[in-house]
Amino acid sequence: NGYQLHRIREHVWEIPKTGEMRVPARLLASEALLDQIGDDNTLDQITNATQLPGITTHALCMPDGHQGYGFPVGGVGAIDAEDGCISPGAVGFDINCGVRMVRTTLTYDDLRGREEELVNALFANIPTGIGHGGVVETDVETVTEVLDRGLDWAVEEGYATRDDMLHCEDEGRRPNADSDFVSAGAKNRGKNQIGSLGSGNHFLEVQRVTEIFDDGVADAYGLEPEQIVVMIHCGSRGLGHQVCKDYVSRISEEHAEFNADLPDDNLAAAPAGSQVAEEYYGAMGAAINFAWVNRQLLTYQTRQVFERVFDRDWEEMGMELLYDVAHNIAKKEFHDVNGDVRELYVHRKGATRAFPAGREEVPRAYREVGQPVLLPGSMGTGSYVLRGGDGSLAESFGSTAHGAGRLMSRTQAKREYGASDVQTDLRDQQQIYIKAEDGETIAEEAPGVYKDIDDVVAVSEALDLADPVARTVPVCNIKG
Ligand code: 5GP
Ligand code: MN
Ligand code: MN
Repeated sequence: NGYQLHRIREHVWEIPKTGEMRVPARLLASEALLDQIGDDNTLDQITNATQLPGITTHALCMPDGHQGYGFPVGGVGAIDAEDGCISPGAVGFDINCGVRMVRTTLTYDDLRGREEELVNALFANIPTGIGHGGVVETDVETVTEVLDRGLDWAVEEGYATRDDMLHCEDEGRRPNADSDFVSAGAKNRGKNQIGSLGSGNHFLEVQRVTEIFDDGVADAYGLEPEQIVVMIHCGSRGLGHQVCKDYVSRISEEHAEFNADLPDDNLAAAPAGSQVAEEYYGAMGAAINFAWVNRQLLTYQTRQVFERVFDRDWEEMGMELLYDVAHNIAKKEFHDVNGDVRELYVHRKGATRAFPAGREEVPRAYREVGQPVLLPGSMGTGSYVLRGGDGSLAESFGSTAHGAGRLMSRTQAKREYGASDVQTDLRDQQQIYIKAEDGETIAEEAPGVYKDIDDVVAVSEALDLADPVARTVPVCNIKG
């Protein structure tokens, strides 16, 4: 692919600074993963990202990286918050796409034999796909409240507990969120999407803990072997998408000259301190809140379904939120850059914050062990819970991967796999029960379309970005 990759040390590769690049690009990967990453336009995209004004140290690609729109998925860009810029394309269209995990005190034995009943009940009660409404269908006034207040709103309305808030990144509420900067069009799209999974890659998965790697941290996270947990992956739906779209076009218009030298229109960035930078930051914060409420209402609904299926209160089944973390987000954070503490817009697109023990952003319950990092793998292989490591601050502005990462396009996936085969094979060979709104989704999301999650986690562990705590395998899964 024409790039000279320099091996800095094991698992750290660099594309040196040449031409218009402001800093080098770095890829954190094993040799095998690096080969897969180099297969599409990821290397071009991470090189392009080094041209963003104010980018610090290097643009980074995580081990699960692949091509996205403009900025790669698995990309991390830390950009000076005073004289740099903020780029909606480096956050992504699905603002605060992210993952949460809900614990239970049920074991696999409690569930075995009832998978079909559970997956059907979840599918019947959880809005999936496009245009099928949400857990609540509401008006612009309520959407506005959700945008400004995040999980505060959900607690007040009885959809969340205080404890849920305390176990969510930022306690489920961005301090700078401002619905005034979200367009009427975006708010309208949110009216019937609060509590909805959406389509494609988003899922709600009941999982079984199969391995514990760190007893002490697993204890702090409340995880043990054979336990049933629920993982929810979705984002801010049409509302967040509209916010991204609105600001990419506004920024391109208002700051055409600032962006004139960028090699890709999808990287369009607003200069730090400009009006539109502030407004995008407020609007993004609002969309982040929307996504947290979205995942919360899906949690609320999941608790109800478990109550009916298992005929016990959710509290009795210990269905507490372990953690909720974003993987499409930009936030102002303070980081040590060659001995200077600087405020940076840390853009993580398909990358997860992985703060170690001690950082004040880590919820009190986990501050002594580090934040939970949730890495979904695929509906056939498994997923991980990790904990943020010290290496993340040294290597990647406190970040690690966000999953296994795509290996092939959706089109190619549909050529390779047939939906009903994938579904029956998973059921008959692995006792995994999948239900999807659209059959094609199952082919597009077949386990084989993703990289190997174990390889991704091995890189994260080797660099101490985040270290494995537990591994899970899927039991029931619903998709859009
Ligand atoms: P993204 O946010 O980029 O769409 O993907 C997040 C990650 O979720 C993917 O890279 C993939 O590894 C993982 N993933 C996709 N579908 C499923 C699924 O059905 N179950 C699980 N456990 N992981 C999935
Ligand atoms: Mn998403
Ligand atoms: Mn996602």
